[in-house]
Amino acid sequence: MELFDVYSLFDVTPVRAKGCTIWDSEGQEYLDLYGGHAVISVGHSHPDYVAALKNQLDNIGFYSNSVKNPLQVELAHKIGELSGYEDYTLFLDNSGAESNENALKVASFHTGKDRIVAFHRSFHGRTSGAVAVTDNPKIVSPFNANHKVTFCNLNDAGAVENELKKGDVAGVIIEGIQGCGGIHIPDDGFMKTLESLCHKYGALLILDEVQSGYGRTGHFFAHQWADIKPDVITMGKGIANGFPCGGILIAPHIQAVKGMLGTTFGGNYLAMAAAIAVADIFKKENLVQNAYEVGGYLKASIPDSPLIKEVRGRGLMIGIEFNCPIADIRRKLLFEKHIFTGVAGSNMIRLLAPLCLTKADVDTFIKSFKEVLG
Ligand code: PLP
Repeated sequence: MELFDVYSLFDVTPVRAKGCTIWDSEGQEYLDLYGGHAVISVGHSHPDYVAALKNQLDNIGFYSNSVKNPLQVELAHKIGELSGYEDYTLFLDNSGAESNENALKVASFHTGKDRIVAFHRSFHGRTSGAVAVTDNPKIVSPFNANHKVTFCNLNDAGAVENELKKGDVAGVIIEGIQGCGGIHIPDDGFMKTLESLCHKYGALLILDEVQSGYGRTGHFFAHQWADIKPDVITMGKGIANGFPCGGILIAPHIQAVKGMLGTTFGGNYLAMAAAIAVADIFKKENLVQNAYEVGGYLKASIPDSPLIKEVRGRGLMIGIEFNCPIADIRRKLLFEKHIFTGVAGSNMIRLLAPLCLTKADVDTFIKSFKEVLG
């Protein structure tokens, strides 16, 4: 049997990884500034993380959500403490898209309404509702296209208010920083206006922090730069450092009803052991602060070049927008300098390094980057 051929692959086969370093099947070493698409938060193969998963597997690997699982409660406390959202509740699932799917459902159940406001250049995942609020017609199948969704321009509060006024909007969904759409940061003032507009018109504000959350931008969540409190916050990626896991934080005014949400695998013992280990490492190693400091250093170190149009981002979520396509630059970084980077569109290199990145790693990158730019 062949694989369903949907991914464009680089000819690299990673077999081992540690911290921000990856080794391929030929023994070649790479610096990882991509983190497997912002997933590796505490670093590859962190010893505490590895030990926690091995230990959990020796005890119990799986049971369903029909019995008590104290690990879920422990994780909820730890995320509450790390994020400052102690008064919110946590629902656990398996991925970023599923988290957004659940958030959209919560908004619709809670308000009894069925339309969602989303933003141009958004990406919220591949499942039905999540892809419907994603602004990329190429990945929206006819089956997904019938949800009631209206797209507004980022930072256009007037357009959002016009939609909210119509009275049928259940929620507004927005990324803390738009990732796949090209590292666009919503204005802090716009976020504050969104928060008050949602309150005024009775819609829920859903913050998709799947990519921009979990410490990546130098705050636990990117929206905390704007000092707002959304009604629902969605998580994925870095929450368990690569073990599939997602979750949503739900404001205290939203009531849980038995059976309203559910999942077979969400909150399973292995995912919880992984996520608890991640939360403990975050605290022990002060990774949010590290993302802030090393990310700031990285952004400031990117050289001026006639090829570079703009550098955008916060913490370790950085986009380098070029005046030209970057495929060749990225290929040289990977195959000549042995550095993994990400991409957004055709002209942007996206850096989403593990949050344990050091300033020495940044210096290594900058030296190679300058050589590739020529
Ligand atoms: N939301 C955002 C902002 C993302 O960047 C992604 C993935 O890249 C998702 C949702 C979907 O997450 P997943 O691929 O885990 O379903």
